[in-house]
Amino acid sequence: MSGTAGLDALVLGGGPAALCIASELGAQGLDVALLSLSDPRAPWPNTYGIWAEEVDQLGLQHLLEHRWSNTVSYFGSGAAGDAGRVAHGRDYGLFDKQALQQHWLDGIARHGSRILEAQAQSLSHDQEGSTLLTRDGAAHRARVVVDATGHQPVFLQRPSDGPVAGQAAYGVVGRFSQAPVESDQFVLMDYRCDHLSEAQRQQPPTFLYAMDLGAGRFFVEETSLALAPAVPFPELERRLHQRLRQRGISIEAVEHQEYCLFPMNPALPDRAQQLLGFGGSASMVHPASGYMVGSLLRRAPSLAAALAEAINAGQQGLPLAQSGWATLWPAELRRRHGLYRFGLEKLMRFDEAQLRAFFAAFFALPNERWYGFLANTLPTPVLLQTMLQLFGGASGSVRWGLMQPVGRELNLMGKMLQW
Ligand SMILES: Cc1cc2nc3c(=O)[nH]c(=O)nc-3n(C[C@H](O)[C@H](O)[C@H](O)COP(=O)(O)OP(=O)(O)OC[C@H]3O[C@@H](n4cnc5c(N)ncnc54)[C@H](O)[C@@H]3O)c2cc1C
Repeated sequence: MSGTAGLDALVLGGGPAALCIASELGAQGLDVALLSLSDPRAPWPNTYGIWAEEVDQLGLQHLLEHRWSNTVSYFGSGAAGDAGRVAHGRDYGLFDKQALQQHWLDGIARHGSRILEAQAQSLSHDQEGSTLLTRDGAAHRARVVVDATGHQPVFLQRPSDGPVAGQAAYGVVGRFSQAPVESDQFVLMDYRCDHLSEAQRQQPPTFLYAMDLGAGRFFVEETSLALAPAVPFPELERRLHQRLRQRGISIEAVEHQEYCLFPMNPALPDRAQQLLGFGGSASMVHPASGYMVGSLLRRAPSLAAALAEAINAGQQGLPLAQSGWATLWPAELRRRHGLYRFGLEKLMRFDEAQLRAFFAAFFALPNERWYGFLANTLPTPVLLQTMLQLFGGASGSVRWGLMQPVGRELNLMGKMLQW
């Protein structure tokens, strides 16, 4: 057997989660290697957006390639002047993907961590640590392994508690016969639906996520917030073209097409395993919005610090992994995650008119509240209060929809009460 012997931490994966946690573990002075199937320096296919305040608070605003102050949504039907335009009054940003990736790669290099390209194949544990075998026969020994191999993790176990909803989107970066959004504008959710037939309006609702990228380029993406099973790509593509056609817009040049699909509400990982997760593998996607990068940036330093402290205190094996889990998913965050999943269960059953009315009420909440809800920065009591406030301010049909028990969310509530 060949390979690395005696690492403090071995991080599996080469996406944002793996790079982020490997960089932070190295910053703690730990001996770290990152092992990825794909080259972690290769360009990422996805575009990553974020509310700008999240990066401002971390001092990372230089990692944004675009930043918009004109941020709006539309929650009217779109028929005869009913646009339901809502101005969000907050900046939104799009990461410079290369800069974000390089930020973490620089951290990995600065702390002398290694990058290995291989396919993780099997993992075994003993009282002192874990041994990973790769497909090409190398063995790597580490005190702790972090599985950051994405939404379908290679080793990490998550209990199944029902169908998992997928956020699905089809998008185009390109040039158009006329501007699909205003100049310098970012559109978070355009739920106008006057381009749809009556029959289509009975189908699961979708919205437009769109932005002006400057120099005549725009990104437009037809998105389904969450559905199990997910809305198929051909349907999203058809709807995007239909929406643009209704406004008399045609696509003149396609620079990039984005096919987006990831799980929104998987159960939390089993915290009894001698293996940690980070990112998609550890269910860190916000179950109400689908965002995750802000959460990676905020939560990696404390996880890395907790692991360094535990290792320096001589912890190993299962207790070491459990110190990590206790920091990554403390009771407070587990409760909030349960509340978000509870809310999403309700939303997935809303028809298009209810969904438009729901979001209009959501963004009518005080700015700090809806932002804190989306960024997952509200403490549980404030989050609960916000949800009640939303219920109080919503229309009758939305309240009726929120009150309809469908079974699974009661199950989720029951689990939350056990924590
Ligand atoms: C198209 C798209 C757009 C998104 N947009 C946003 C957004 O705007 N904002 C936001 O916050 N979130 C967004 N998300 C959600 C989330 O942030 C992303 O899914 C993110 O890429 C997940 O990161 P990850 O590192 O956990 O997993 P991934 O990016 O999926 O990375 C998994 C890594 O594991 C490696 N791997 C897999 N198997 C093995 C193996 N056996 N051995 C070793 N390595 C292995 C893979 O090669 C890969 O490098 C988006 C998701 C998608 C799909």
